[in-house]
Amino acid sequence: MDNDFRQDNVMKGAGALRKAQRVEKVHFGSMSFNTGISGQLDSNKYTLFNLMADDKANELSFGQRIAMINSWITDMDANKHWLYKRELVDGCRTEPQVKKGAGEARSMINLGSNDYLNLAQHPRIKAAAIQAIYEAGLGSGGSPMLSGTLSTHRKLERKLAQVKGCEDAAVFTSGFSANTGVISALMGRNDAAIYDRYAHASLMDGSHGTNRLFFSHNDVDSLKFILEKNRHKYNNKLVILDGVYSMDGDIARLDEILEVAHHYHAWVLVDEAHATGVLGANGHGTTEHFNVRGKVDIITGTLSKAIGSVGGYVAGSKSLIQFLGPVSRPYMFSTAPLTASSAAALEALNVIEEEPQIRAKLWENIHFMQSALNNMGFNLGDAETAILPLILGDDYKVKQMATRLDAAGIFVNPVPYPAVPRRLSRVRLSLTAGLTQEQLTYSLAQIKRIGEELDVI
Ligand code: PMP
Repeated sequence: MDNDFRQDNVMKGAGALRKAQRVEKVHFGSMSFNTGISGQLDSNKYTLFNLMADDKANELSFGQRIAMINSWITDMDANKHWLYKRELVDGCRTEPQVKKGAGEARSMINLGSNDYLNLAQHPRIKAAAIQAIYEAGLGSGGSPMLSGTLSTHRKLERKLAQVKGCEDAAVFTSGFSANTGVISALMGRNDAAIYDRYAHASLMDGSHGTNRLFFSHNDVDSLKFILEKNRHKYNNKLVILDGVYSMDGDIARLDEILEVAHHYHAWVLVDEAHATGVLGANGHGTTEHFNVRGKVDIITGTLSKAIGSVGGYVAGSKSLIQFLGPVSRPYMFSTAPLTASSAAALEALNVIEEEPQIRAKLWENIHFMQSALNNMGFNLGDAETAILPLILGDDYKVKQMATRLDAAGIFVNPVPYPAVPRRLSRVRLSLTAGLTQEQLTYSLAQIKRIGEELDVI
């Protein structure tokens, strides 16, 4: 069925040209590929994984490797599937002006942003950022351990520690570097990192060179099985998970995971990237949601999603944070963040506590969209937060849906394989508090129309 569909559409779209090119090949070193409608590498047939994970890719020159990926991108573009790096002219907002390549900017409804509370445009937070620049200038001039720790950073670290119920926190330049920075600092050769299978790439990247084990996604019995099996193996074990999963929007079973992990003397690290500002009575995240504040050994997160700024952090005991200073390489060897971004994050954390009505509006939007999409017959998996995946299980249909939504003025992110398993490829919607009923109703009508056209509902 999927293949028939794909074939039909390719033929309709490209006609005789596609027919004539069907048997042609493009070559990069010893790698060769069928061509697509552009005469370049067929992006509907080959995924990034096919290209980069093939052993033969190791034999390519830099030039060949670059040409191969560019050939694939050219074909994606010819199919109108290249929806990456669209340019938001007037910033991150619910209906930004968006430019694609050299085209004219046009207004689009933003269902692709992680700025869940729309704090990137909050007047009080913008004012705090501008004030910080007036008072303390721009860059920090050094890494946090050398000359780069400014009062702005320390204020933010103290606030993060309070929000997360920890003794102290350290601010990094991104959530990615916070995750790699704390895991790589802690883990030794005889330790084991035990991951939820769906944990974020930045968490995975922290444990190169040590032992890695995986438990089934959000499956406490699977974690228990791994811990029991390895009870007497490894010096230290660190169980690593997201509080809210970035591609699925489901919430970690943190309370049960903590109990099992601690029973086996393993530490637990939770990445609160998509949970802070969204979960908990005060928006403090997964630990507040489950009433387990103070029980998680390490909390990490980003300042770039509901907090609306940029940067990352690690929160934990005073001794853990002090230890990171000289040992965590991204902390030691990377310049501390801009004053404005840290001051904005600090003010955003205050706004999250003081303006709960923004979070209430986000949840209204989540419930409205979730129920409407479920009624249409979409498979949303276990989504229960601001991230709602339309799981189509077909890469071509995912790309088509995102392309058609783009044409209808709706900005969404396609997530094909290998970002998720092929049978779970999806269009990922993310909701924000400021989206109006009118914007959501229009989006739903378009999603329904395109879902029917593609025969996915
Ligand atoms: N963790 C998770 C779960 C994320 O989704 C992301 C961002 N995609 C990060 C960490 C990285 O954060 P940042 O964008 O600040 O580097």
